[in-house]
Amino acid sequence: MHSFSSSLIRWQREHGRHGLPWQGAGAYHVWLSEVMLQQTQVVTVIPYYLRFVEAFPTVADLALASEEQVLAYWSGLGYYARGRNLHRAARRVVDLHDGQFPCQFEQILALPGVGRTTAAAICAQAYQMRYAILDGNVKRVLARYCGISGSPAIKSVESLLWERAELLLPDVDVGCYTQALMDMGATLCTRSRPKCVVCPVQKDCVAYQSGRVAELPTPRIRKAVPERFSTFLLVMHGGDVLLEKRTSSGIWGGMWCLPQLDEGQSEIDDYVQNNALDVNGVIQLARLTHTFTHFKLQISPVHLALTQKPRQLQKAVWMKVSEALSSAIPTPVRTLLAEIQGA
Ligand code: SF4
Repeated sequence: MHSFSSSLIRWQREHGRHGLPWQGAGAYHVWLSEVMLQQTQVVTVIPYYLRFVEAFPTVADLALASEEQVLAYWSGLGYYARGRNLHRAARRVVDLHDGQFPCQFEQILALPGVGRTTAAAICAQAYQMRYAILDGNVKRVLARYCGISGSPAIKSVESLLWERAELLLPDVDVGCYTQALMDMGATLCTRSRPKCVVCPVQKDCVAYQSGRVAELPTPRIRKAVPERFSTFLLVMHGGDVLLEKRTSSGIWGGMWCLPQLDEGQSEIDDYVQNNALDVNGVIQLARLTHTFTHFKLQISPVHLALTQKPRQLQKAVWMKVSEALSSAIPTPVRTLLAEIQGA
């Protein structure tokens, strides 16, 4: 066995993360955890994971649920396409695999929302199959350990890292090794101030031995993130708030949102007029920013208090604020409603 993998496996047994609720569980549970862990840290994921498996103990239970129920349990985790894909994938497992989570790499990779690393992590951890992972943390570890310069966002650099990831795979204990790589990236070989002094592979690490830890992996040149501006309307009647359901594709697809307008007083006036709203008071609330991967949304929330509820508005429903808070709503809507409830 390569000394990298044997050192990592030994280190994991003594110092790695143990007792995570999905460790040692079946493929369904490993899959859930892997999807939740994409872009999200372990400490944040654990309570969501526990609530999720309690509500949907098997893949068949998840397939039977409505998309709205699934998104309600996902609400707050962000990146909602993951929740929708999880639900679609569960239905596919029931349709194509008789409700048994598949055990072949290609079958797992074919599920919605599952990429090469997620499929490999499931194969390695649930079935002890030899597949390499390469998420952001592992890219950093391997770029440093192998001394590979160039941004991992560049295709040729990424291909080189995949090659190394496969070369370093052990023949046995693949599950433990995969967990070790993840733990090492999260706790030892961190982006800033890595703990090289206690690292088990320090003597073979090219970056450490050549004093290049701080410069690897080579950062990518970031473009400025564009900004968009929107008004969110908190249309309230007593303790009820008006929510609109988004269509199931696009940002916040399938979730309950506040009416969203382009920023500007004339848009608010048009909305009030077009829906014949009987407005009793208007309050401009403090602006808030929500960051997506490709842009920043600058939100100007406006509170409209109504004297009476209007005739039925298209695709909109009235909900008690407390009921809305336990529904599938995106984070900035949750922030605003929690403020209203606490006011
Ligand atoms: Fe990462 Fe430092 Fe270990 Fe090298 S020695 S793999 S840079 S923690």
